[in-house]
Parts: sequence; C-alpha cells; structure tokens
Amino acid sequence: VPSLPNSAPIGKIDENTYSQYAGSKKFNQLPLSQKTKDGLRDSKYTKMTDIQRASLPHSLAGRDILGAAKTGSGKTLAFIIPVLEKLYKQRWGPQDGVGSIIISPTRELASQLFEVLKSVGKHHGFSAGLLIGGRKDVDMEKEHVNDLNILVCTPGRLLQHMDETPNFECSQLQVLVLDEADRILDVGFKKVINAIVSQLPKHRQTFLFSATQTKSVQDLARLSLKDPEYISVHEES
Ligand code: ADP
Ligand code: MG
Repeated sequence: VPSLPNSAPIGKIDENTYSQYAGSKKFNQLPLSQKTKDGLRDSKYTKMTDIQRASLPHSLAGRDILGAAKTGSGKTLAFIIPVLEKLYKQRWGPQDGVGSIIISPTRELASQLFEVLKSVGKHHGFSAGLLIGGRKDVDMEKEHVNDLNILVCTPGRLLQHMDETPNFECSQLQVLVLDEADRILDVGFKKVINAIVSQLPKHRQTFLFSATQTKSVQDLARLSLKDPEYISVHEES
C-alpha cells in the first residue's frame, strides 16, 4: 500500500506557486517527497545543475516542458524526479499499471537512464522495466509489461509491445518523456513515434529534453503539448 506523502508542501505546489521555488539551488529546497530526497542523497546528488534548477519548479508544478541543454548537463534527473513525484502524488500503486513512459533513442542511453531511475527511485515502490530489444526475450517481457509502472524504452521496442502484447494497456498514462527529443523526432523515427503517440492518452504531462531546442510546431502539435515551458540553458562563454 503506498504511504501518504509525509511532507506538507508536496500537494500544494501548483501552477501559481512554482515561482517560490525558482531560486532554489539544492534539491532539498524543493518540495520533494522524502523518498525522492533519500534517493538523491544516497546517489550523492545535492546541488542542482542549471537545467535542473530552471526546469524542476515548472515540471513539479505539472507543466509540460521543452528543455534544451548540452550533453552532460544533467537532463536525466530533470525528468526522472518529476516522473517519480507525479506518480507518488497520484498514490500510484502496483495495480495501476503504466504511469510513465520514457523514450530514448538508443539502447545504451535507455540503459543508462534506467540505472539512474533505479538509483534515485529506489525508496519508491514503483516497478520499472527496460524495454530495449536486442537479445532479451520479448515473449518473457510481454508477460510482465502490464505490471510495470515506469517503462524506459527505445521507440521500436515500445511499438512492438503496443502492437503485439495482448492487453498492453497505457490508458492511464500520466507522464510521457522524450529524452534526446530532437533525435527521436527526427525523420528516422517519425512513423514509429506517430504510431506510439496516437495510442497514448492526450491528457498527460509531457517532457521533451534534448541538446538543441525542438522548434518544429508540427512535432509539438502531434505530441499534444499543452502550453509548454520553453527552457534553454546555455553555457557561459
Ligand atoms: P545529459 O542527459 O544532459 O547529457 P546526464 O543526465 O547524463 O546529462 O548527466 C551527466 C552527468 O552529470 C552524469 O554523470 C550525472 O550523474 C551527473 N549529474 C547530473 N546531475 C547532477 C547533479 N545535480 N549533481 C552532480 N552530478 C550530476
Ligand atoms: Mg541524456
């Protein structure tokens, strides 16, 4: 049974109050669940990077995000933290099925971010799965995929499950993340992403993060982003 949130501000942060966290420098200054704070502490994350500082007050307030910051700037935590917090706030439990889908363009990147998710999310009770194809037995995966709360996947493998897995169910999806969004929205993945997104509920939170700002209005329209917050963090030169 998911426990009750034990910090008062978590339920209170909303569109109007995000600005009060805008100046925060450390994760501890944000209204995060104790489970996430413990995961960050155990993983030795204390100070936020620029993209985390700029985006978390908005993403935690429930807004869609279009985030751009160079490679190595800490984009992974900028979406993993709000995914964990969103499901926690919704009292997401094992029976609730898929609450978040995180899409990454390559197996390597998906595997890396899955490790970060496991590390920072380890005090939460969510189940998470890495669906990336390759040698892993897809039939085995099909039996378990409906029991997972957070899916970390490559586009091809996710679509394979949507097409082939009996009762694959994501109608309750709360958060969609496209990591390296510019690469995922590139022509090569266009058909796959269109097929995926057409099967997802539109009422959800969506995060797009990449090294360069995704500007294509068409892309954003087909992803049904709602009044997204554009956040670009550039290096001081
Ligand atoms: P990006 O996705 O923007 O390329 P990553 O999320 O992969 O960047 O992070 C790059 C590196 O920075 C990783 O080694 C990660 O552990 C580290 N990192 C991320 N956020 C923080 C932080 N707040 N404090 C310290 N190190 C961090
Ligand atoms: Mg990354």
